[in-house]
Parts: sequence; C-alpha cells; structure tokens
Amino acid sequence: MASFDGNSDSPLHVLVVGGGLSGLATAISVSLAGHRATVFEAAPQPHPFGSGVVTCPNGTRLLSRWGIDEDVPDTGNHTSIAGWQLCDPLGTPLRQVLIAGDGGDDAKAHQGSLPPWTFHRVNLQLALLRRAQELGATVRFGARVTGLDDEDDDAGVTIQLESGETHQGDLVVIAEGTNSRLRNVILDQPVDPVATGYVAYRITVDRSMVHDPALVTFMNAAGIRTWVGKGSYVSAFPMRRGAQLSMMVLIPHGQLPHGATAAPEQELKDYFKKWDTLLPSMIDAAQRVNKWAAMHLLPEHCSPQGTCILVGDAANTMSPFLNQGLSLDLEDAATIGCLLGHVHSTSQLPAATALYARLRNAQAKRVREETAIFEKQLRDMAGGCINDEESSAPGARSCSKLEYAQATSVHTTSTDFGDRTGRLAPEWMWSYDAYAEAEAAFKSDPF
Ligand SMILES: Cc1cc2nc3c(=O)[nH]c(=O)nc-3n(C[C@H](O)[C@H](O)[C@H](O)COP(=O)(O)OP(=O)(O)OC[C@H]3O[C@@H](n4cnc5c(N)ncnc54)[C@H](O)[C@@H]3O)c2cc1C
Repeated sequence: MASFDGNSDSPLHVLVVGGGLSGLATAISVSLAGHRATVFEAAPQPHPFGSGVVTCPNGTRLLSRWGIDEDVPDTGNHTSIAGWQLCDPLGTPLRQVLIAGDGGDDAKAHQGSLPPWTFHRVNLQLALLRRAQELGATVRFGARVTGLDDEDDDAGVTIQLESGETHQGDLVVIAEGTNSRLRNVILDQPVDPVATGYVAYRITVDRSMVHDPALVTFMNAAGIRTWVGKGSYVSAFPMRRGAQLSMMVLIPHGQLPHGATAAPEQELKDYFKKWDTLLPSMIDAAQRVNKWAAMHLLPEHCSPQGTCILVGDAANTMSPFLNQGLSLDLEDAATIGCLLGHVHSTSQLPAATALYARLRNAQAKRVREETAIFEKQLRDMAGGCINDEESSAPGARSCSKLEYAQATSVHTTSTDFGDRTGRLAPEWMWSYDAYAEAEAAFKSDPF
C-alpha cells in the first residue's frame, strides 16, 4: 500500500460511510497515511448529476497534494479561476480580486498558493474515486449503511448494511452529507440541519444553448462573478473549460411569490428581470434548474467515544457565501488523514480523534463566523437598493449605481487574497494548510 504521506506501520481499518466528495477524499488521505480504507456508498454508481463546485485555495492545495490536478482531454477536469468579482444587480463591479494573469502557472506562483478551481461535481467525484482506488482503497457502491455499534471498545466498531452484512473496523468516518442519519446515532444529543431562510437554485448551462454573445464572453473568461442585491445572492462560473456554466442563486424565502414552485425558470426570470442582462440570458439557456431550501448545520466532528468521526457536510453544512463548503470538507479529510499518520495502535485513536474534533470544530466555527459577517455585509450593501417594480412603489427607495458602490469601500484589482474590510476572502482562510495545522497541533499535543 502506498504510504508516502504518513508513517504508520500498523494499519488501521477505517470504514467510511458515504462515497461523496468528502468520503472519497477521506479514503485518499487515510490511504496516503498508510491505513486501509473501505468506502460504503448507498448509490449503485457515482452520482451522474450535479453542477459546479468550487475549491478555494485552501481546498485546491489539498486536491493538488493528492494528485487530483490532471487534465481530462476535451472537457478538462478543473478550471483555474483567474479572478473573482463582486457586482451590484446591474453588473457594476464593487470589489474584485485578480488571482492570476492566465489561471495557469502564474497562479501557482501567486503567494505560493494555487487559485480556486471549479469542477463539474461529476468530474471531481470520478477523479477522487479513481485516486482512492489507485491508492488501494476499496469502494463499494450499492452498499447503504443502516446501523452502527461502537459499544464494545475491544471489538472496534461494527456497521450493518441494508443487505444484512456486517463489517468491523477500528474507526468509522461518517460522510453521509447534510441529511446524515447516523450523525444522531453517534452523538450524545441530536444535531439536525436548520433552514437558513434562503431558497436555493442551482442551474447548469451548456454552451451550445447560449445565444447571447456577452454570455459566451463570460464563459470564456475563467472568472467567478457574484451579484448581490435585495438580500439575494447569485454566483456564476464556467466549468469544463467553458463548455458549461454553473449558476447558484440564493433568494430570501419571503421574496418569492407565494405558491410559485412549479416553474423555477419562470420564477427566476421574473425575479431577475431588471438585473444584469447576463442573468436572464443564463436562465434562458438553462438545461437544469434545481430548487431546494438551503440548510445549515452546526459543526460537530466526533463521537464522545472517539471511535466515530464526522466529515464533510455531515459534520458541518455552511451557507455558500464565501464558497468554503467543499474546501472545509476537504480540510476535514486531510486533517484526519494527517493525524492517523501518527497512529500506530488503536489505543491512540481516542486522542487522535479528539484532536481532530478540536481542530475542525474550531476552524469550521471561524469560517462560519466569517461567512456570517460577509453575508451581513452583502445585506447591508444591498439595503434599500431596490431595482424592480417595488422601486416605483410609494415610499420605496431606489439607488443609483454610484450610491450603491459607495455603500461599501470599492476595491479594484488586488493581488492580495483579501480580508473582511475590503476584499472577498480573508487571507487566513485561503492560506489555511490543513496538513501543516494538523502536524503543528500533533507536535504540541502528541498522543
Ligand atoms: C448527487 C449530488 C449532487 C450534488 N451537486 C452539487 C453541485 O452541483 N454543487 C455543489 O456545490 N454541491 C453539490 N452537492 C453537494 C456537495 O457534494 C457537498 O456540499 C460537498 O461538497 C461534499 O459533501 P459530502 O461528500 O460530505 O456529502 P454529499 O455530497 O451529500 O455525499 C454524501 C454521500 O453519502 C451517501 N450516503 C448517505 N447516507 C449513506 C448511508 N447510510 N450509507 C451509504 N452511503 C450513504 C450519499 O449517497 C452521497 O453519495 C451535491 C451532492 C450530491 C449528493
């Protein structure tokens, strides 16, 4: 088994429940640490659907370390993001970050870091699957886990599958996603997802359906653009080398017309009809529009016994305003892999998982707080700026582009990654290196 990242000489058997992005990433990091990973995924095959996902530099650096940076012929695997722009509803830039000249090698050199990458989720899941298998992990599809028993310390942990099979391991990693069922089985008290108050839409656009030349130009430029207004948030970016576009929309619940659920495309077109014309163009060209109530979940990363941990969305589901969800999930995977690299006996596991939980609860909390501050900033920036039919209602206030821009400090192209006062993401968030942090924590608190 490959073991270049760790120093374990007595492999543990780690059972991973869920073969989504964080489950597979965990299988990679555990295998690299010299342990044995078996992933149980309920779906019969890798999910064939989804849209765009983004890794910020703190997530990109992990994918690169794990070898997930190869290019796929024709569609490409990832798209390196060269810039990120925050705009008002009409598309006027409020802040922007230039990440790299061409998204290529220059980006690598930028502050010693890698740029954000965008993927189609299907491509990323397949790339992680391939890498996990190359490293010796076993991935079983069509294997839903229905029960878990960690009562008997000496016997490790046992999981039960829907089929009736049971499997025993030293550690169980729950990577079931936001609606995890096993989360409440292993935690002392129930932790359930809570509605954020936003309705979310995810839209995929194929280039072949695009007729607006401005949208073609946008898809050719490897940038993320975020529009904010009326408390709503839209983020769009190209993926698969510009062959597709992913658009994510969050609208406060109360702003949608009552009962409008049957035709999400029309709902969105009505909502955005006075915004930047790129938005209706995207909706016109949409192939798929998914709509759901956005949820969040308070971070909780470990069972009290220390024999089960949670990773990814099962541990911590976050509002997407700073695009940190997936990167945090990958950090979970890297942190447990790194710490397990120091585990040579099962007696060390409770201390290793406790350190994992301490690191990850703290980082998730910090990112969550920063996300809330950013969300509030967006709401404040949009406060009073109404640019639809309400603006002609008596007493309603509309604002000019200039006034809108003055509502916040406008920063033009910056080569820094940013901080809360002026740019799009704080430096500490994008520069977080999960392996370095876990190593440093182990050195100061060895087990
Ligand atoms: C089909 C799908 C499409 C998605 N599309 C997008 C997208 O386009 N853009 C975006 O930003 N995010 C998308 N997400 C969410 C995104 O993948 C997550 O937010 C995150 O980045 C990775 O989360 P995760 O692996 O922790 O959880 P998830 O991605 O939710 O994966 C959890 C996995 O666990 C499996 N599972 C659950 N319970 C069990 C069980 N008891 N036994 C065995 N297996 C189990 C599920 O089938 C799933 O594959 C999608 C998620 C899914 C599942």
